[in-house]
Amino acid sequence: MARTNGNAEPQRLYIGVDVGGTKVQASLVDESGGIVTRQRCPTPRDGGSEDVAATIQTAIDDAVKKVGKHPGGLTAIGVAIPGVVDPDAGHVVVTPNMSLTDVAIGPRLRDQFDVPIAVGNDGNLGALGERWLGSARNATSVLSICVGTGIGSGFVQGGKLWRGAREAAGEIGHIVMRIGGPKCGCGNRGCFEALAGRSAVERDIREAVAAGRKTVLTELTDGDLSIIRSSLLRRALEAEDELVAEIMHRAAEVIGAACLTVRHLIDPDVIVLGGGVMEACSEFMMPIIEDIVGSDRLPGARQSGGVRLSALGDDAVVLGAVAAARMLVGHSPFKKRFVARPAFPEITHYEFGEITIAGKAYDRDVCIRVDGKVKKRDKAVAKQQYGTSHTVGPEELEKVCRGGPEVLIIGAGESGMVELTDEARHFLERRAIECKLLPTGQAVEAYNQSERRRAALMHLTC
Ligand SMILES: [Zn+2]
Repeated sequence: MARTNGNAEPQRLYIGVDVGGTKVQASLVDESGGIVTRQRCPTPRDGGSEDVAATIQTAIDDAVKKVGKHPGGLTAIGVAIPGVVDPDAGHVVVTPNMSLTDVAIGPRLRDQFDVPIAVGNDGNLGALGERWLGSARNATSVLSICVGTGIGSGFVQGGKLWRGAREAAGEIGHIVMRIGGPKCGCGNRGCFEALAGRSAVERDIREAVAAGRKTVLTELTDGDLSIIRSSLLRRALEAEDELVAEIMHRAAEVIGAACLTVRHLIDPDVIVLGGGVMEACSEFMMPIIEDIVGSDRLPGARQSGGVRLSALGDDAVVLGAVAAARMLVGHSPFKKRFVARPAFPEITHYEFGEITIAGKAYDRDVCIRVDGKVKKRDKAVAKQQYGTSHTVGPEELEKVCRGGPEVLIIGAGESGMVELTDEARHFLERRAIECKLLPTGQAVEAYNQSERRRAALMHLTC
């Protein structure tokens, strides 16, 4: 895949870094948002800020090595920090949940890597990522809410971040939603995050268990309820665990109320919900949130302001950091003349039962993900759930649509046998992913001719 921009010049490369409590992720990304490679380093748990800064430098260094002799070269680096930062000075003011407070990360990285460094808050940059390539692509204004261990957010209007008078805007996790409520990590009481973040959910589960309630989580965590990962919350919900369903229902109601608050305060085009908790438990939580937002009694003058799910998942923050880096060097992805076309593998041959993609022949159903990787379709997922590989559900789409395509092209087979379930259609609508379901021959053509960020699922037989 030759990575070129619209003018057939080699694409410039950027590095986006997401500094998190458990890992530091540094991805090498081209101008169109295509992820070339991902480097992950575990965040030192007990170390000081020096150790964390060194880990960030190592992660970037690993990504820099992958630039190799690429003709576009490395242009700039964007770094997302989970805390308050001064973007102009590249200085970390405070990181409440990890040690990086008072580190001049921008100047430090600039000295080492000799390219411009953009530094921003992770919630803010996540919103920028969703606006660039995620569920809010093309929206005039977007507010994104990231529900993870805590709750972060960011607001982007007209391709610009709302930074606030003190560089502290978008801290939606700390709006007070219950006066005198539970204590929050920030020191205040009754914050949104202290009611609906993953730490709050964990706390509520532990308290209920201490009071004698039963939950399947006790077994799933081997009795250690100190940290309950989002994937385990999902498994408990799938097992119809009463306690977890009750607590997650309450959390979803708080998130729904927060969306209403946002709508009435700034009335954005789109509210995007993301983060580990939303990603893992959206099937359970979204209907509750949509109900609350849908029953709003105070209308606007137009239909808008919908709530969507993040289409980018983990990559939203990294891509937002790259968007910030691009803006820093005067190549904003929101300016028409700097929009770059993504590189995608070409399908050079198709006939019944056979397809050739980027020079490689396949004789079974395939998926092409948004990163250009071709995967054999795992038919067992559909067969197990629906008894036929002609039915596509959300479980399968979760894999096919990783990375947030703008459009999903499905080759439904020669006679168009493949169908989507209602849940699968919801999955796509909630992420603003357009779906083209066509007989496979036409789907191949549509795929090759498209200039958008796309994914495909090709059924090769009937
Ligand atoms: Zn708080």
